[in-house]
Formats: sequence, C-alpha cells, structure tokens
Amino acid sequence: MSVDKKSELKIRAIENGTVIDHITANKSLHILKILGLPDSETKNVTVAMNVSSKEIGRKDIVKIENRELNHEELDQIALIAPKASINIIRDYKPVKKDKIILPDTVTGIIKCTNSKCITNYANEPITPKFNVINNHPPVVRCHYCEKLIKTEDIEKQFE
Ligand SMILES: [Zn+2]
Repeated sequence: MSVDKKSELKIRAIENGTVIDHITANKSLHILKILGLPDSETKNVTVAMNVSSKEIGRKDIVKIENRELNHEELDQIALIAPKASINIIRDYKPVKKDKIILPDTVTGIIKCTNSKCITNYANEPITPKFNVINNHPPVVRCHYCEKLIKTEDIEKQFE
C-alpha cells in the first residue's frame, strides 16, 4: 500500500489533540493497540499509512482528536516505533513537540516468550516486566526469568 503526495495533503489538520509522527511504516495499528485506541471517549482517530518522509523514508502518522496523551502512555510505543515523535496541538498549533523515549522498564505490554517464565504459568497472574537493554532497535530482558526478547519477537506479538 502506498499513499502519494496528494493523499498526504488531504490529512486534515486537527484543532486539539495529539499527533504521533514518524511512526515506523505500517506500524500505526500496533500503536493503536498499545494505546487502547480508539476507546469510548476518543472518537476521531485518523491514521495515515506509508506516507513519504524526508527523515525516515516511509512513515505512518496517527492523529488523535481532543485528547492529549501523556509521556507515560506514549513512551511505551517506542517498543515498536523507536523514531516516533509527538505533537500536542491546541487551536491548530503545535504547542509541544517531543521525541518519545523508551523507559528503562516496560510493564504489561508484551509477554515473556519463555513458556516456563513465572509470568506465563503462575496461578496468581503476574504482570510481565522487562528491563530495556537497547532502545533502537528495542531489545528487552524479562525481569523474572532474564530471557532476552529481541526486536522481531516484540514485533511478532503485535501481528
Ligand atoms: Zn520471563
């Protein structure tokens, strides 16, 4: 799927909300899954996929109207879109632009790939927790069993 320049121009500017730009091409739906969007209070979510970008070749863009996502929510998406940036829009103007930064630990977004890990077999559910080993590409290590989860294993969980 590709979108030409004309289509890119058709992406409507939003009055208020959050724009997530420079998402790795074709990963925007994974991002929405991580953010749990759209939900009942967030009605207008616009996704542009595989548009051309001077900086990263091809990219996706997500626009979320009337909602300002915070860093805690957004930094988690660095797991699958390490080059993403955030724009907070108020009255059609970007008031804040930021790179997202993968936090030192990631909790509950992905599962440990070790079937014998306590997070996978315990009767009492334990939320998976990972220490970030590398930001780009993202590599994490399970806090409980120390299994290394590589980038491709992270991406597989969102397919
Ligand atoms: Zn584990």
